[in-house]
Amino acid sequence: MTSNDHLVPVVAYARISADLARDAHGVKDQHKINDETAAKLGWRIVHHYTDNDLSAAKADLVRPDFEAMLKVLKAGRLPDGRAVRGAVVVADDRLVRRVGDYERFVDALTFEDGRIYADAKGLKDLYNEDVESMGLFGVVISKAEVRKIRRRTRRSHRRRAEQGIPVGGKRPFGWEDDKRTLHPEEAERLAQAARDVIAGKSLHSILAKWREEGVQTVHGNPWGSRSLKLALWNPRLCGWRKHNGELVRNADGVPVVGQWEPIITPKEWMAIDALFSARVRLNIKADGTVTDYRTPSYLLTGILRCGKPQGDGQICNAPMRVSARPDLSGGYVYQCPSRSMGGCGGSGRNGAKVDEYVTEAVLARLEERAAVKQQEDSEWGGAEELERLGKKQRAMLQKWQEDLISDELFFPENHKMEVRIKELRKERTEHALRAQRASKVTADVRERWFAGDLDLAQKRALIREALHAVIVLPVGGGGRRPFNPDLLVLRWTEG
Ligand SMILES: [Zn+2]
Repeated sequence: MTSNDHLVPVVAYARISADLARDAHGVKDQHKINDETAAKLGWRIVHHYTDNDLSAAKADLVRPDFEAMLKVLKAGRLPDGRAVRGAVVVADDRLVRRVGDYERFVDALTFEDGRIYADAKGLKDLYNEDVESMGLFGVVISKAEVRKIRRRTRRSHRRRAEQGIPVGGKRPFGWEDDKRTLHPEEAERLAQAARDVIAGKSLHSILAKWREEGVQTVHGNPWGSRSLKLALWNPRLCGWRKHNGELVRNADGVPVVGQWEPIITPKEWMAIDALFSARVRLNIKADGTVTDYRTPSYLLTGILRCGKPQGDGQICNAPMRVSARPDLSGGYVYQCPSRSMGGCGGSGRNGAKVDEYVTEAVLARLEERAAVKQQEDSEWGGAEELERLGKKQRAMLQKWQEDLISDELFFPENHKMEVRIKELRKERTEHALRAQRASKVTADVRERWFAGDLDLAQKRALIREALHAVIVLPVGGGGRRPFNPDLLVLRWTEG
C-alpha cells in the first residue's frame, strides 16, 4: 500500500513517430507530461504504454502497446487484475495512426460508464458527442448514439438478435461460405419469400411451404416464424447493414452498401421493413411479447365492428367474431361477442353475404384508386426537403466544427433537423411501401381475386388497404330480415 492508492487508476500512452509534424516530444517527454497531467487531476498512472513507429519498417505495422491498451481499457483492468478507469495522452494525435484508431480508442474507453480521459490540455469527456466529432467527422455523431445503445444493452444484459445478424461466424442463409456469393437455390427462396411478404402473404403460409419442402436453416434446423422473419428483415438482403437496430449510413445519411451480392432491391427491403415495423407496433403486448401473425380464417374478422348503440349513446364497437350457423346460407355469421368477452352480444349478420358485399365494394374502390394512381406522379413529395435539410445540416456541422457557431446554438438546432430528417425518411419508406403495393394492386385485382391467385392473408391485406373498419348497424325489430347492405357502414382509408 502506498499513499496514493486513493487516486483514480489510469493508463498512459506515448507514441514516437516521424510523421507527426509537430512531434517535439520524445518518449521520456511524453511520459513526463502524462505524469503531470495525471497528478493535476488526482489520477495515478498504473501503466505506461509506449509504441515506437520509427522502428516500424512497414506502414501498416500494428502498434502492440496501443492494441494492448485497448484491451485493458475495454476490460477495465490490467492483466494482473488491477483496475483501470481511464487514460492519459499528450494529445489526440498520439492515438491516431490509421483511420479508425481514434474511433477504436473511444469505443474501448467508453465501453463502460464513468471512464475518464485527459490530454495535456486537461480533462475531456469522450462520452460527449462534441468531443467525438474530433474523430471521423460526420459519422461520429451516430456512432456516439450507437455507443450509448451498446452500453445500455450491456448494462441490462439484454442482447437480442433482432438485427438478424448471423451468430457464430456461420454463413447467412442465401449466401455461400464466403458470405459474398449467392447460394442460388437459397437466394431464390429468400427473394420469392420477400416478394410474397410484400404482396401480403403471411409468414405462416410461406413457412408451411418451406417446411413441406424440407428447407432447413444453415444450422440444419427447421425454419420458425421468428427465424424467417429475421432473415427477411435483415437489410443484408439488399446489400445494407444494420448496427444496433439502425442502418449503417455514411455521412450523407445514405446506407452503406456491403461487399456481398444482394438478393432483393433496397426498395423491396424497405417495403418489408415498413411492413414488419408496422406489425411490431400493432402486435406488441403489454408484457413485451410479440404475437405471431396467424391468418384468421375469415375474410372480415377484426374489420367488422358492432354498431349497436349502448346506454351512453356510443356504439358498442367490439370486433365481431365468426360462429358457425349450418342452418343459414353460407353457414356462418359474424357476431358481436358476449359481454364477458368484451362485446354486447347484441348484433349478428350473415357471414357469406357480408363478405360478398364488402368484397365487391373494396374491389371497386381498389380499381378506382389504381386508375387514379396510374395518372398521379408516383414521385415522393418530400425528396426536396430531405435533400435541403441534409445539406443544411452538413453545412451547420461544418460551421460548428470550425467553431463558427456555439454548442448552445448547434445542438438544439441539429437535433431539430435530425428529428425532421428521421420523419422524412420514415415517410419515404412508407411511400416506397405504398408504391410497391400499388404496383401489385393493379387494375387486374378483380381477376386475381376470383382466379384464386390471392390467399386469404393477401385478400385481408388488400381489404385493410382500403378499409379501416366496417360498422354493422343493428337490424332493428324482431325476426329475420332480408340482408340490407345499407346497414353496413364502410370506413374507407385515405388515398
Ligand atoms: Zn356489440
